[in-house]
Amino acid sequence: MSVNQQAHTGPPYGQPQPGYQGYQQPAYGGQSLPGVPQSQYGAYNGPMPGYQQPVPPQGYFPSLGFPSKGSPVSLNSDTSSLAPNFIGSLRAPPTSGAPPPASGASHPSGHLAYSQFEHGDVQNGIPASAAPMQRPPASQPFLPGSAPTPVSQISTFQQYGPPPASVQQLRNHMAGMTIGSTAASAPPPAGLGYGVGPSSYTPTTGAPRPPAMPGPPLPGQTVAGPPPSSQPNHVSSPPPPSSMAGLHPGPPMSGLHGPPPPTHPPQPGYQMQQNGSFGQMRGPQPNYGGAYPGAPNYGSPPGPPPPPKRLDPDSIPSPIQVIEDDRNNRGSEPFVTGVRGQVPPLVTTNFLVKDQGNASPRYIRCTSYNIPCTSDMAKQSQVPLAAVIKPLATLPPEETLPYLVDHGESGPVRCNRCKAYMCPFMQFIEGGRRFQCCFCSCVTEVPPHYFQHLDHTGKRVDFYDRPELSLGSYEFLATVDYCKNNKFPSPPAFIFMIDVSYNAVKSGLVRLICEELKSLLDYLPREGNMEESAIRVGFVTYNKVLHFYNVKSSLAQPQMMVVSDVADMFVPLLDGFLVNVNESRTVIASLLDQIPEMFADTRETETVFAPVIQAGLEALKAAECAGKLFIFHTSLPIAEAPGKLKNRDDRKLINTDKEKTLFQPQTSFYNNLAKDCVAQGCCVDLFLFPNQYLDVATLGVVPYQTGGSIYKYAYFQLETDQYRFLNDLRRDVQKEVGFDAVMRVRTSTGIRATDFFGAFYMSNTTDVEMAGLDCDKTITVEFKHDDKLSEDSGALLQCALLYTSCAGQRRLRIHNLSLNCCTQLADLYRNCETDTLINYLAKYAYRGVLSSPVKTVRDALINQCAQILACYRKNCASPSSAGQLILPECMKLLPVYLNCVLKSDVLQPGPEVTTDDRAYIRQLVTSMDVAETNVFFYPRLLPLTKADVDSDSLPAAIRNSEERLSKGDIYLLENGLNVFVWVGVSVQQGLIQNLFGVSSFSQISNALSTLPVLENPFSKKVRSIVDMIQGQRSRYMKLIIVKQEDKLEMLFKHFLVEDKSLSGGASYVDFLCHMHKEIRQLLS
Ligand SMILES: [Zn+2]
Repeated sequence: MSVNQQAHTGPPYGQPQPGYQGYQQPAYGGQSLPGVPQSQYGAYNGPMPGYQQPVPPQGYFPSLGFPSKGSPVSLNSDTSSLAPNFIGSLRAPPTSGAPPPASGASHPSGHLAYSQFEHGDVQNGIPASAAPMQRPPASQPFLPGSAPTPVSQISTFQQYGPPPASVQQLRNHMAGMTIGSTAASAPPPAGLGYGVGPSSYTPTTGAPRPPAMPGPPLPGQTVAGPPPSSQPNHVSSPPPPSSMAGLHPGPPMSGLHGPPPPTHPPQPGYQMQQNGSFGQMRGPQPNYGGAYPGAPNYGSPPGPPPPPKRLDPDSIPSPIQVIEDDRNNRGSEPFVTGVRGQVPPLVTTNFLVKDQGNASPRYIRCTSYNIPCTSDMAKQSQVPLAAVIKPLATLPPEETLPYLVDHGESGPVRCNRCKAYMCPFMQFIEGGRRFQCCFCSCVTEVPPHYFQHLDHTGKRVDFYDRPELSLGSYEFLATVDYCKNNKFPSPPAFIFMIDVSYNAVKSGLVRLICEELKSLLDYLPREGNMEESAIRVGFVTYNKVLHFYNVKSSLAQPQMMVVSDVADMFVPLLDGFLVNVNESRTVIASLLDQIPEMFADTRETETVFAPVIQAGLEALKAAECAGKLFIFHTSLPIAEAPGKLKNRDDRKLINTDKEKTLFQPQTSFYNNLAKDCVAQGCCVDLFLFPNQYLDVATLGVVPYQTGGSIYKYAYFQLETDQYRFLNDLRRDVQKEVGFDAVMRVRTSTGIRATDFFGAFYMSNTTDVEMAGLDCDKTITVEFKHDDKLSEDSGALLQCALLYTSCAGQRRLRIHNLSLNCCTQLADLYRNCETDTLINYLAKYAYRGVLSSPVKTVRDALINQCAQILACYRKNCASPSSAGQLILPECMKLLPVYLNCVLKSDVLQPGPEVTTDDRAYIRQLVTSMDVAETNVFFYPRLLPLTKADVDSDSLPAAIRNSEERLSKGDIYLLENGLNVFVWVGVSVQQGLIQNLFGVSSFSQISNALSTLPVLENPFSKKVRSIVDMIQGQRSRYMKLIIVKQEDKLEMLFKHFLVEDKSLSGGASYVDFLCHMHKEIRQLLS
């Protein structure tokens, strides 16, 4: 994707790719296949044939039919305070300036877009194809009787290539780390960032529910399907006892036991150095200051001081090394899911998945794949048992989409008691006439139409013909019993609701949106090979009042209807509000041409917000369908209306007990509205363009609880931000989404789902309801024991998502996963996944800030992780000196990643982080998958000057620390939201010329929002890297150019997460020492 476009009014769509396979996937491992052009936005299906130019505006007509309820509001009411509602009579068609085209003229922008598309004349020389794009079905039809072989898919989709050429070998392996922590260790004083606080941090939801199935398990229950045990474990796992060899080879130091002596009051500065005992331990930053005064005093033991040890950052666990090792070890072989309890490769590794009975890790990842048999063991370890589930995840083209199974009117076969769906783990008995449920052990008759004989091993002879018997993931076509009111759903609708207050108009936003919609509407999600989208569209504009538009195809011109009584919102028209794009193309185009003109001179600065959502909700209700509202909003809604808000931002609350109120909505009004929206299947996506505080914590409630998304473009400027916004909008409009969704996770006897994190609503303790669920959204589920598990039978999860497809088809998507169970803690620690653990811990903490002081939340996180590591040390590691820090191999990055979570903007904001930023990030992280949280908390840092311009690989990543940067190099840092290009002061002039087109460092402008397009290998290489990385993320990242020693560098340094942060966050080295101290305190 070009990042070097000039400002334009209707940017071309992304480069077409033959064989469209959905969006560029965010973050499947992060690397691209070499040699193939990337577009992060390759989703369009090609130009619509027969695109008609809109009829030029010729005036409007009043509404023809006025709806039942609408009597008090007349079309012409209140014209004094409103934009004209008789547009035609009040405003002539535009004749001058830069209005939309006059009659007969083509759309400059739209035409440009299509031309480019057709001719493949795309930026950066990325080849295009004139071949029509084929959108694959969300599910593949399954033909009974044929084995489910993967369907070959043509594509140039390129994210899943092999890892880049091997990199610098950063030794890390733990040896040699010295932490001479001793007597002087004392609990940190209150008010510091660290220390074990009271564990008063309790979950806010997830009250225990009774066991799903009280029935006792039948003896001898076994799991059909994949054979248990003896699977290979995580390749890099060493034998249980410890991989982290002695940090301190010397004898244990004295003073390890007993209460710590009184400590000094906190003082600024690096006290340990004052007594010389710690002189050579490398302080990460020279100005190591007050943020960590209670840190362990790495003091000298009694007796002759040992030679000073230096804690070398190269000797502590390196994320880069772990990622690289996993790529090398696991990137080449497909991950085959036939074996129970296998730990998948890391999210940063490219690998293919072959479904042989368990759900792909793209759908479900777990904190551990071997879970303790008893609740006591689980409590002892403190390792949370959680699954991060992305039910509609997009797959790479090489992998098989879930098959769609149609059992006709009888619907899917289910357990009589717990209602689990037929899956590979159900056990057929009595010659195939009955089956025993793998979740609750109940025996159910096989319906006659489903009967099949068993072979000599007890397997049904049609085992391989039926996805639900042989695969981990598949779909069922739902019957009418699964539909609201026992009625098949109508196709969903999209309603575009545009703020036309002064700020929105003045910034050019309104015109930009309208121009974009003219072409974007041709790319609404379609099902399978359907010619056109079944989704209907509607349009609303608003400031203090709402304007509805009749765009019925039979009209010559659109009609506007104004509702100024926002206190009791209704939709003033039914017929003509939601329309088919093709049928109403001319009228819609005319409307989108005229909206910017109609409000061009508006002086209205106030907006409403809740009535906008209510209007969309009412429209969907009236149309009896689910749908999505796309709301483009600019300001705090202070106009008199329901849901009116006041500015209550108060940074003085930070670090007080009232800080939590900054994350809470200021009124419960929106919670109730969200509930109504969920009941209707009305999902809200919110695009915010604030110039000041607009209370994201409150405005975000409805999007969040309806499964929608929030995008925020602070201080939106057309020139620099439109490209990012338009990319996000296009992707958001086009991406796969299920409507009116309900998800339930069933588990085998012994564990149950107790807690849920994500963007959804719950009206009971088991069902996760989402008005909309898109392919990027993740739900994290925590499990607790309610009985003993057995090593033989393991533990099973079944996630069932009931949803309405974009064509209105009601479906069930089923994901099954089998896990091992263990009686030895070492097995637990050998099969954990730290990235998933961090995903869970971050979400847990980010929810905690709603109800607890942030410090309490941070302390609880540290305490839990210290307990996890202490339990390992005590029970799994071989005996060793207390001076040694011993980490489980699979968790050796837990300290560094945990520190990143603790230092994040939500838990420890720097002075530049606004209240809205924090609320925004908090909500965003809650829906992130594991790959997204991984790069968000530990950004990727690439030395661009080390890139091989002749190869397609990325340069090897380096650790996020300033000391890794060379002033002669240029680096790229990305975290999924921003991408920085950092330029050292001593970079060769030639490189600067090649990349920025200027002759010296001082001439580089950091106002650049894109890199200039220059015809030289270095420029091309860097731009292709940026494009590739953009393509891997679910949101278009803001590009920020940072010059070394420039003021913007402060912002950049914030993301060098191994260093001490300006907001007081500890460096990695210091935090590791601190964790070590915490662990030792727990062990003593
Ligand atoms: Zn059952």
